[in-house]
Formats: sequence, C-alpha cells, structure tokens
Amino acid sequence: MKEQKAMTEAQTRATLQKMRAEMVDAVEAVARDAEPVELDQTQQGRLSRMDAIQQQAMAAETKRRRVRQVQMIDAALKRLDEGEYGYCVSCGEAIEPERLALDPAVASCIQHAS
Ligand SMILES: [Zn+2]
Repeated sequence: MKEQKAMTEAQTRATLQKMRAEMVDAVEAVARDAEPVELDQTQQGRLSRMDAIQQQAMAAETKRRRVRQVQMIDAALKRLDEGEYGYCVSCGEAIEPERLALDPAVASCIQHAS
C-alpha cells in the first residue's frame, strides 16, 4: 500500500481552483444546449422535435448539476479561508481523508452525506 499524505492547504486550494475552472468551462459547454428548444414546424418533424426537447431537458439537468458543483467548490474554498476546511458542516467532526481524496469539495462526513 502506498502511503497517502494529506494535501497541504495550498495544494488543496490549487486543486479546488483547478476543479472550479474546469467545471465553469463545463457549464459553459452545456449552457447552449440547455436553452429552450425553438419549435420550428417547417424544419423539424414531430420526432426530432421530441428528441430536441428531451436533449434540452437532459442538458438543463447536466447544467444544473455542474452549477451546483461550482457552488460546492466555492463553499469549500470559503471553508478553507475560514480554517474550517475538512470538517463536516453538519457535526463539525473531521471528514474522512478518503472522502476528501475522492472529492476535495465534499462538505460532510460519511454519516451526514446527503
Ligand atoms: Zn458529520
């Protein structure tokens, strides 16, 4: 087993900021597809309109999830500034290092995971 050292605060910040930048790009990438579908009867058949609406709904959901992830990262960065990073927002106990390694933006311990 390889020994896993805890990330320093600076490394954590850099990781979170990189994750944030990537997620913001991902939001922008999906934002256009998430716009309401224009129903142009002359250009689209009924099935393709339904496809377009379905794809729009999926894109909107993806966008919503990614925006939420950006908010989670922002909150993690704020906790880092306030010296509260790594502690569960529900109970204040230290978050399991394996959880933080998996997702540095995670806000709660395993018991309080939503
Ligand atoms: Zn907790």
